[in-house]
Amino acid sequence: MAAPMIPQDVQETSQMVKALQAGTKSGGGRGVFKVKRNTFNVKDSSDGITVDSWKFADWDYKRRDLPTYARGLFTTRNRHGEPEIAVRGYDKFFNVGEVHETEWKNILSRTRGPYELTLKENGCIIFVSGLEDGTLLVCSKHSTGEREDATASHAVVGEKHIERQLAAIGKTKADLAAELRARNATAVAELCDDSFEEHILAYGEDKAGLYLHGINLNLPVFATYPSPLVQDFAAAWNFRKTGLIIMDDINKVKDFLEEVAQTGAHDGRDVEGFVIRCTMSHNPDSVPYRDWFFKYKFEEPYLMYRQWRECTKALISGKTPKYKKHKNITEEYLLYARKRLHADPQLAKGYVHNHGIIGLRDDFLAYKHLNGSDAANIENLEGGEARTEVDGDVVLVPIATIGCGKTTVAQALVHLFGWGHVQNDNLTGKSRKPPRFTKACLDELATKPAVIADRNSASKHERRQIITDVKIQNASATLVALHFVHDAGSIEKIREVTRERVLARGDNHQTIHAATEPAKFIGVMEGFIDRFEPCNIFSPPDDGFDSVIDLDPTAGSRANLEFVVTQLHARYPSLVKEVPSAEKMDEAIEAALGYAPTIKHNIPDRGRGKQGQQQAKGKQEEQDQSGKKKPLEYMAVHVTSASVTQVLERAFSVDDAEVTRFYKQLKGTRRVQPKFHVTLMHRASAKERPDLWERYLGLHEEAEKGDGTVGECDVMLERIVFDDRIMAIVVRLMPKGDAGDDYPTVNKVAHITVGTRDNAVKPKESNDLLAKWLEGGAEGNSGMHDVVLEERPTLPGVVKGVCNFHKR
Ligand code: GDP
Ligand code: MG
Repeated sequence: MAAPMIPQDVQETSQMVKALQAGTKSGGGRGVFKVKRNTFNVKDSSDGITVDSWKFADWDYKRRDLPTYARGLFTTRNRHGEPEIAVRGYDKFFNVGEVHETEWKNILSRTRGPYELTLKENGCIIFVSGLEDGTLLVCSKHSTGEREDATASHAVVGEKHIERQLAAIGKTKADLAAELRARNATAVAELCDDSFEEHILAYGEDKAGLYLHGINLNLPVFATYPSPLVQDFAAAWNFRKTGLIIMDDINKVKDFLEEVAQTGAHDGRDVEGFVIRCTMSHNPDSVPYRDWFFKYKFEEPYLMYRQWRECTKALISGKTPKYKKHKNITEEYLLYARKRLHADPQLAKGYVHNHGIIGLRDDFLAYKHLNGSDAANIENLEGGEARTEVDGDVVLVPIATIGCGKTTVAQALVHLFGWGHVQNDNLTGKSRKPPRFTKACLDELATKPAVIADRNSASKHERRQIITDVKIQNASATLVALHFVHDAGSIEKIREVTRERVLARGDNHQTIHAATEPAKFIGVMEGFIDRFEPCNIFSPPDDGFDSVIDLDPTAGSRANLEFVVTQLHARYPSLVKEVPSAEKMDEAIEAALGYAPTIKHNIPDRGRGKQGQQQAKGKQEEQDQSGKKKPLEYMAVHVTSASVTQVLERAFSVDDAEVTRFYKQLKGTRRVQPKFHVTLMHRASAKERPDLWERYLGLHEEAEKGDGTVGECDVMLERIVFDDRIMAIVVRLMPKGDAGDDYPTVNKVAHITVGTRDNAVKPKESNDLLAKWLEGGAEGNSGMHDVVLEERPTLPGVVKGVCNFHKR
């Protein structure tokens, strides 16, 4: 195998430098790339040579018009004043799936072996080359020589290592410089040295040094040595060798990487990932293959898995597990692992020898009904780690109903930070309102780091619209939902608070003139509450948000402002650099509450328009389009959400994870029903009990002449029964009034379904749960629990028919 050798072409190099120079003057943006140049004196050079370092913005490497894709590039001038590449790094390479080219399907079809897999060593990159005057040039990615404050730089420490390694074999820096210059090449190595700088992986004294991983030709286009030649060079010049695996079949490569990813460890050692070197052609028929790298970096959930593995090993050896990330889910995992280890001593024995790691983890995930990436993501979305790189292009999207305080909080944020604020209510005209709204928000970002997209976005289709439209037009935008949570238990309070506020606001609003048209405003507000779809970060469209901040609409805007500000500071510290003082926030809210809109426009009576049909849902949905009555779906006793939630909260305020876990899960995943009822009879059982169905139909029809109420019936709550799929409350029905007002249920056990694990579990499966419970009790059914409600709370209930609004 001969080393590739292509000398530099002055023409070619000078063209590249010219193009780079143009890039230093560009303002960036769509048209031209932007590049930063830094000039350094070469400290050992007797000729006073200087080198220029060229640095692109990371995202610019995804452009197609760069004069070179070298990440780490230094140029200089030779004695004749001709430009010359002094140091050339690798072409910027991307993670699997990060860009189009690195999607597996493209890697599989466009690349050619041999595939050289090198461990991603965990240090910093060092470039070494030889200058014209015989000096050895040692650089880090973008600099060389000492730091301005004269402290040791990576480059200087790297050079010390080189001196040491060469001295050991009786060679000099000048020898190495001459060798590299003769080859027109840059040696690329990883500086790993704990005594200088500790990275995640350990490199003790015996492991410290320069790990040579590549030799590149000093050309604008990327050309690099095959790894076996790199290893030979390392041996000749006393570099440390980088671990190397060579494979010929890309499918084997993929399997191997995915296998290692399962544990994050290879060869008994934690690894960060692999760099895979191969050749690639976009179109093998017409375009020659060129050197090309991609990386496979272990990210979440693998990092979480690795943490679990370490924590489990700590548990087994009686140490306290230490962990910083994924706190809640790791805590739960450990609770689970502890039980399993306790129940099965063989498991621990195997685990320390790396057996059963994946099995235990997968059992836990199955038990939680989560997949790994969701599990790893939970806390990211609930707080997670700070994203320091975000300092602009942030769109705050309230998800709310009328009167939650969107505008108030927005005004206060404007007051504090001077951000942009676009109110949907200020846009006049009806046509193409959503795109105009989005555009207005994006326009604000041209001059301001953040904007509040002030509209309710209560329904998912509105969120889908804004998320998609924003991302299409500004790919680097960060979307943060301000989710005013409308929990089942608090909906009554929300109604009360928002109505009161909006009434107090009077006509002081663009479209809702509550003082002059009180009935209309209540209808409009109800419409929003009705249509409100909670934000679910695990499914589209809401998984398009970068993060979600949960707010309580009843908490007051001052409290919500503070929460938003502190959360943004924690998650995006470069956007909100510090949390303003309490006085400043008080002042901002006062200023906001004093705000009255300057635009006022009348909305047509919505009862008739297309939207109006939705607004006036309550009335319209009783009838279908042809004007016929909608069929009765089921008859039920309805109880208020607040009262049931209170009972649940009290029952689950015990300190017993076993008992509270499923309830917490339902709450956490917002799977607690928003409204609660006891089903008396569903139309599905009309055939079995035609007499009773007839009776309920009659009662319903009669009630329809009034407000729909059939009668009253107290509901006594006796016990909560649940497994890991569904939760129900066993109740006793106590009809009020005349003895004749009896409301029988066709269900074996009268109950309220509290919630189900996911959409695949239907509420009616409560019947199956309770049938099993009747048979064997909670003790007789594995995984089943029951909580007896000692004080037997009795709630007033209303008997009412429910029509299916969705079936036509
Ligand atoms: P939006 O419909 O979500 O934009 O809600 P607004 O921000 O316009 O708030 C509705 C009304 O409630 C306005 O008149 C506000 O001045 C008022 N308001 C907002 N926050 C608070 C609060 O914390 N306390 C009280 N008492 N009123 C508030
Ligand atoms: Mg508003």
